Amino acid sequence: MQDYTKLIAEINELKKEKNAIILAHNYMLPEIFEVADSVGDSFELSKAAQEMECETIVFAGVHFMAEAAKLLNPSKKVLLPSLAAGCFMADTVNAIGLQRLKNKHPNAPVVVYMNTTAAVKALSNSTLTSSNAVKVVESFEEDTLIFAPDKHLCEYVQSQTKKTLIPWQGFCHVHTQLSPQYLKEMKEKYPNSLSIIHPETPERVTKLADHICGTGGMAKYIAQHPDIKTFLIGTEVGMTHRLQAEFPNQEIISLMGSCINMKQITLENIKSSLLNDTYEINIDEKIFDAAQNSMLEMMKRS
Ligand code: SF4
Repeated sequence: MQDYTKLIAEINELKKEKNAIILAHNYMLPEIFEVADSVGDSFELSKAAQEMECETIVFAGVHFMAEAAKLLNPSKKVLLPSLAAGCFMADTVNAIGLQRLKNKHPNAPVVVYMNTTAAVKALSNSTLTSSNAVKVVESFEEDTLIFAPDKHLCEYVQSQTKKTLIPWQGFCHVHTQLSPQYLKEMKEKYPNSLSIIHPETPERVTKLADHICGTGGMAKYIAQHPDIKTFLIGTEVGMTHRLQAEFPNQEIISLMGSCINMKQITLENIKSSLLNDTYEINIDEKIFDAAQNSMLEMMKRS
């Protein structure tokens, strides 16, 4: 591994000067965890951002996460070190398309995954994330809801609720690549292992999993099984690095590749972000309140 000692020291110095914190998503490159004040999934980080005293938040994640941090921390400056850090899944739905679906089902509340733009959140009744999706859906009185954008997460939530979910047909290109055949092969290769699969993965794979949960639940599941030596992890490969560091006596094996969007964030552009205030996240004031309400609804309902 490259020696990042000097760069890490410079970033830590800049953080002090700028009264800044760094929030890092689980899928980041391992060296980024060295400068992070908090590491977690997008929901955990949004909450952490509310509790931390600072003027500036540097978000080591992708664009929709930085927007979510801004929605929950309107008085703080939120920076995303690279504008190339988008999200394929978030790009599968826009406000015009979602409005059309709403027009077809005017009585159905709309729930949207964290992986959406602020403009899409502004059209929804509540945001949700993989760890609270079932709870948020169940919290509505209505029997039919629109669920966007991830069709696989929708499929999973549908299997856990009696409500009728109208899916958007979005997906994540990383999680969709995992095949049932590969999972079966890996289970044969590691017969005493347990597999943990993210619900963004297609149902044909999750139905073979020992456990289905978002990134936030993976460490908890491993901690509950100290006698198991090997875990097969079905989510973006960055999560495996984090879990391996947390559980050095267990073997953590990744079943998936890497998300090119997440890997746009580097220690170099984090330093540049702190030096130059790049790239500041601003949200159109016409949609700000509605998008913020959607996030706050999630917190109330979960
Ligand atoms: S892993 Fe998938 S859902 Fe997550 S940021 Fe990358 S493209 Fe988006």
